[in-house]
Amino acid sequence: MAKFSGLYERLLCDRITTADHVYQPGPPPQGWIELVHRAEYVNAYCQGTLDPKAQRRIGLPWSPQLVQRTCTAVGGTILTAKLALQHGLACNTAGGTHHAFPHYGSGFCIFNDLAVAARLLQQQGLVQQVLIVDLDVHQGDGTAWIFQDDPSVFTFSMHCEVNFPGTKQQSDLDVPLPQGMEDDAYLQCLDAYLPGLLEQVKPDLVLYDAGVDTHQRDRLGKLAMTDTGLYRRELQVLGTCVAAGYPVACVIGGGYADDLEALIYRHSLLHRAAAAVYAQYRL
Ligand SMILES: [Zn+2]
Repeated sequence: MAKFSGLYERLLCDRITTADHVYQPGPPPQGWIELVHRAEYVNAYCQGTLDPKAQRRIGLPWSPQLVQRTCTAVGGTILTAKLALQHGLACNTAGGTHHAFPHYGSGFCIFNDLAVAARLLQQQGLVQQVLIVDLDVHQGDGTAWIFQDDPSVFTFSMHCEVNFPGTKQQSDLDVPLPQGMEDDAYLQCLDAYLPGLLEQVKPDLVLYDAGVDTHQRDRLGKLAMTDTGLYRRELQVLGTCVAAGYPVACVIGGGYADDLEALIYRHSLLHRAAAAVYAQYRL
C-alpha cells in the first residue's frame, strides 16, 4: 500500500504537479460500486465476512484499512474520469484493478474501478462510448468479462500471453505479446493498433490502465521494457489521444518490485508524461 502515498509525495517533491492540481477523492456510495458488483459480494468484502477461499483468490489480507483504500481508489478513478472530461487529461495515483469480476475479486483486485467509472459516467449521462486501453502486462480479464455483451464500452488489452490470468477472457481486442518483448517492438505494436482504434470507436472518454509491470525488473511481468520505454509509451498513448481530441483518464495499474523507490519512479513516468502532454497541447 506504501506505493500510492509514495507516488503522491514523489510527484509533489519532483514538482510534476502542485497542490492546487491535486484533488482528493472520497469513497463512493455503495450503490455506485453495485453498478458493476453484486451487492452480496460488496457487503461481504466491506464487512470482512468473505469466505477464506474468496479472500485467498484476492491475494491480499483483509483489513479495514484495505477496505478504505479499495473504495477510495474507486472514488479516485471516478473523479479522474470526470476531471478528464473537464480538462482533457487527468491521472489517478492508484486504480487499475482489472482482474475484479462482478461477484469475486482476483489477483490483488477487489472492485473493478475502470468498470465502475465507465458505468457511472454513462448512467449520469456524461459519456456514451468508452474505450478502455489496458496496457498492464496482465490481461484485463475482469473488465473484458463485464463488458463482453456491451458495445458501448470497447475493451482493448495488450498483455504478455504467458502471464496471469491462466484463463483469458475475450476483450473486444486482445493483443497477446511474446515473453521478453523489448521497447521498440512493443511501441511499434502499440502504434499499429491505437490510432485506428480511436478512429473506429470514437470514444467520449478513454480510460487508460498504465500498468508498469511490463518493466524488465518487474517481479510479476515477463516483458523487458525499460524506464525510457515506459516514458515513451505514456507519451505515445496520451499524445495520440489528446492530439485527436479524446479525453483520457489514467490509472496506474500494476507494478511489483522489492525496490519501492524504483517502483514509485516507474509509476511516476505516467504523470511526468501527462504533464508534458498537458503543457504541449495547452489543455
Ligand atoms: Zn498487472
